[in-house]
Amino acid sequence: MTEPVTMVDTPIRLDYSYTPGVASSRFLRSLERGEIVGQRCPRCHKVYVPPRGACSMCGVATEEELTLTGKGTVTTFCITNVPSPGLVPPYVTAWIRLDGADITSMFLVQECEPADVRLGMRVEPVWVEESEREANMGNIRYFRPTGEPDASYDDYKDYI
Ligand SMILES: [Zn+2]
Repeated sequence: MTEPVTMVDTPIRLDYSYTPGVASSRFLRSLERGEIVGQRCPRCHKVYVPPRGACSMCGVATEEELTLTGKGTVTTFCITNVPSPGLVPPYVTAWIRLDGADITSMFLVQECEPADVRLGMRVEPVWVEESEREANMGNIRYFRPTGEPDASYDDYKDYI
């Protein structure tokens, strides 16, 4: 008697090319320099990171650029207990509102116990070595706690 088939490994691969456009190219080049550049809407003054070249709310071009400090605040997070390639569980992914930005971005949070991650936690990016940087988001390895006091609820309540 043979055992029933219950699992099949099926390696898959997807190659693709991405054409980022002017705003995203400038953003990706800023990451290559170890900076995070956003763009401000001239009408509603929201700051977009990463910038897309236009405000999605106002429909106008965003040309004013500003360099953020890179520090931010955890607004939402998830502790994952399932293995993922390159990540040992448990690990934390968080939506982080970078200081000066009006939208959040998702990053890993490390250099602390997952149980210590909390809403309002202040974090900063850990960059790959300068010699290894390329024009992509992989330049930010993860975020880590700054040790600063937590942000006040009013600072991030609209981003939860
Ligand atoms: Zn706008």
